[in-house]
Amino acid sequence: MALSELIFATHNANKVQEVQLMIPSEIKLLSLTDINLMEPIPELADTLTGNAEAKAQYVRNRFALDCFADDTGLEVQALGGAPGVYSARYAGEQCDASDNIAKLLRELDGITDRKAQFRTVIALFQSEKILFFEGSVSGEILKAPRGDGGFGYDSIFQPDGYSISFAEFSAEEKNRISHRGIAFRKLIEHFYRLDKVTK
Ligand code: IMP
Repeated sequence: MALSELIFATHNANKVQEVQLMIPSEIKLLSLTDINLMEPIPELADTLTGNAEAKAQYVRNRFALDCFADDTGLEVQALGGAPGVYSARYAGEQCDASDNIAKLLRELDGITDRKAQFRTVIALFQSEKILFFEGSVSGEILKAPRGDGGFGYDSIFQPDGYSISFAEFSAEEKNRISHRGIAFRKLIEHFYRLDKVTK
């Protein structure tokens, strides 16, 4: 498979950097900024799968290029899976990560069940077909933020089996066990399987 460039339908440089670290260096990821698609892609679906598919479809409709998109949510058991698909704008459209964290900690105030999972769904449009890949990591929501690394809800999420938050992991360690790491390794394995078939 002559695969050197892949479009990742995101403007988020953190995510591109995280995924680029995980994949073979001969595969270069192109972001939406790299292909000059500057407008935000609407995320109107009420499921992670629906949003991932819509984002990949949007790029495909505009550019007729094979591409993939992901959507991630933090699903908190005691809140019935919230913030879930609304994780980015949990505290409101204009909010940032610290507003979202503050709201989540308020919602969980006094609640002892702190179980949660991060879940990522990837939709890949390739040669007229769509495929989905999923990864998740279970853990718990801490009572207060810890650590300076990562982004989003990392500082309040402690994965099962660890006593540090995701914000205290190195990027490589986080990739090894994270929702996105798991989902993207499935995507990469898919490309390697294709490679074997087409050689
Ligand atoms: P997205 O679908 O990857 O854009 O993720 C939606 C929202 O979930 C982001 O705005 C972040 O707040 C949160 N999020 C996604 N991935 C992570 C992560 O790895 N750590 C912490 N928060 C994340």
